[in-house]
Amino acid sequence: MAMKKKYRVGVLGATGMVGQRMLSLLDRHPWFEVTAVAASDASAGKPYAEAAHWNLDAAMPAWLPGMVVRKSAPPLDCDFVLSGLDASVAGEIEEAFAAAGYPVISNARNHRMEEDVPLLIPEVNASHLGAVAVQRARRGWKKGCIVTNPNCSTVGLVVALKPLADAFGVKKVMVTTMQALSGAGYPGVPSLDILDNVIPYIGGEEEKIQTETLKLLGGFDGQKFVPAGIGVSASCNRVHVRDGHLECVSVELDRSASPEEVIKAWRDFVPDIAKHGLPSVPQPLVVYKDEKDRPQPRRDREAGAGMAVTVGRLRPCPVLHYKFVVLSHNTVRGAAGAAIVDAELMAAEGLI
Ligand code: NAP
Repeated sequence: MAMKKKYRVGVLGATGMVGQRMLSLLDRHPWFEVTAVAASDASAGKPYAEAAHWNLDAAMPAWLPGMVVRKSAPPLDCDFVLSGLDASVAGEIEEAFAAAGYPVISNARNHRMEEDVPLLIPEVNASHLGAVAVQRARRGWKKGCIVTNPNCSTVGLVVALKPLADAFGVKKVMVTTMQALSGAGYPGVPSLDILDNVIPYIGGEEEKIQTETLKLLGGFDGQKFVPAGIGVSASCNRVHVRDGHLECVSVELDRSASPEEVIKAWRDFVPDIAKHGLPSVPQPLVVYKDEKDRPQPRRDREAGAGMAVTVGRLRPCPVLHYKFVVLSHNTVRGAAGAAIVDAELMAAEGLI
């Protein structure tokens, strides 16, 4: 699909870890151009290079250093906003933008589970975008709306489960995560807490995986979301890795399947939205690795420019049916890239 003119994007939380990733991924995006950056009042009024502590290995895009950071309040010079705001402030600010007529695509947890807000992974549950019409009617918003992307550890899990749910049905899921440091924002976990260590607690994370997975793999009946009837149990750990969440998963399927069939379901999976040719959807979406010691964060997180999900080590589970390992890039597939691909689908469907 070719765009006649580029959509103008405003980035909220532009100075944070997710905001920086969004700006980097938007550099030379074929459909979108960044026309506004916003953050807290402490950053507002400063050139971006002064306000942000740039944390990515890739250099700052050439157009960015001199852009003046705006306050996170409408109006902003843009057609829609991507939000990487801290959850302590995202709720109200995102609503203010939606009420002022801006489509908002958010990384924050605040609106994810609301009954008229899509929690979207375009390759998994594109039909949930139907809830935007319900949301606009209910809230009296004409052009504005809020669409969210999932928690970073939920995305990889759900993308790996989707082909299995479609092909065989999924009844139960047990998942143990090993989550990267960048998932905690900047400056994040103090170095003396995490060096030579694993922290077996990430506040709210297990609950997010357990609830968001059901919304994502469930349906939308035209009026409301219908959660999937899957039992999900999650245990979350912070580990000493910079980027890339690794997850050990056990599943019980609805019907039996051979290992070859399971691997084929992953390798052959083509999302319904493939027809749109969205620029950030990777091909393949799920990469299955045959090596016995993969996926690994350092070696596999850049698969599909960070947007693919890598799976490996499929083997029988003595308690449920199968177990396997999933890896996804938490700030790309799990946050910034996820919001951008949401925006691409919304643009393709005329919602922005
Ligand atoms: P972060 O590095 O701490 O960045 C937070 C951003 O919010 C900064 O731009 C900050 O601006 C801005 N902010 C803070 N207080 C504000 C206020 N009162 N008004 C306006 N802006 C304010 O956090 P992050 O890791 O990028 O995460 C951002 C959001 O994405 C969070 O909701 C997080 O839960 C979610 N998320 C993160 C990941 C991940 O992997 N990191 C994954 C999925 C979802 P200043 O620089 O001016 O303070």
